[in-house]
Amino acid sequence: MTPVVQLDEMVRTYFTGEVEVPAVRGVSLSVEAGEFVAIMGASGSGKSTLMNTIGCLDRPTAGRYQLNGVDVGGLNRDELADLRNQEIGFVFQGFNLLARTSALENVELPLLYARPTLGRREQKERAARALALVGLEDRAGHHPNQLSGGQQQRVAIARALVNEPRLLLADEPTGNLDTKTSLEIMGIFQDLNGQGMTIIMVTHELDIARYCRRQVVMRDGRLVSDQAVRDRLMASGELDRLRQEHQAMNLSP
Ligand code: ADP
Ligand code: MG
Repeated sequence: MTPVVQLDEMVRTYFTGEVEVPAVRGVSLSVEAGEFVAIMGASGSGKSTLMNTIGCLDRPTAGRYQLNGVDVGGLNRDELADLRNQEIGFVFQGFNLLARTSALENVELPLLYARPTLGRREQKERAARALALVGLEDRAGHHPNQLSGGQQQRVAIARALVNEPRLLLADEPTGNLDTKTSLEIMGIFQDLNGQGMTIIMVTHELDIARYCRRQVVMRDGRLVSDQAVRDRLMASGELDRLRQEHQAMNLSP
């Protein structure tokens, strides 16, 4: 089968005035449908640059990137944007929700770009279904400032899912969240992956990467390790354990 992501000696160099910054220096990586990959590495090692290329926000300086068998290097800006809208959902550390807009409307937004011919009713229904997937059907009318951090990230995940992408990308999605909320988010990713969604996630926390199925490590713009997770943790079990701990300490009802 054609891999979802196929990178061959991918290079991305930033040119800023006088200086050249070689952020990614020749990465080869293949990700098959149904995988759940953690990309790890120190700050500045090139993780976000790699993700932005995989997410079609950016093109390689050299080497080749094929998304579902399509060579991204040959596409112009509009074609790249179309491909991104159709195939990819992106989740960021900072949620990136519109403030004065309800959860449902935030989730609807990508549909307006990628599926403009859908009727308003169908758009609302699809957005509502995506919110239900992350367990937020009862918060559809809430604005971001009326939601917890974890709930805001769940809205962002629903927004990433609304176009039914084949690939879900997340750059440090738990970076702004406490441990228990991070596990909730990992539980959602594990459920989605269990339903067949291909997921690539950046994290610099080993504790979080252990919920994925495969760990790739970057250093100075290169891949230095790539291995399956042996003792994968399941977030739902961990959440039960945390709840019991909290109860034992009388911290929660
Ligand atoms: P990470 O996500 O692992 O922290 P990044 O991909 O953000 O790493 O950055 C890799 C390197 O590229 C760093 O040295 C960073 O300073 C540089 N860099 C990132 N984005 C840009 C940019 N837009 N222009 C110039 N240099 C950049
Ligand atoms: Mg980064």
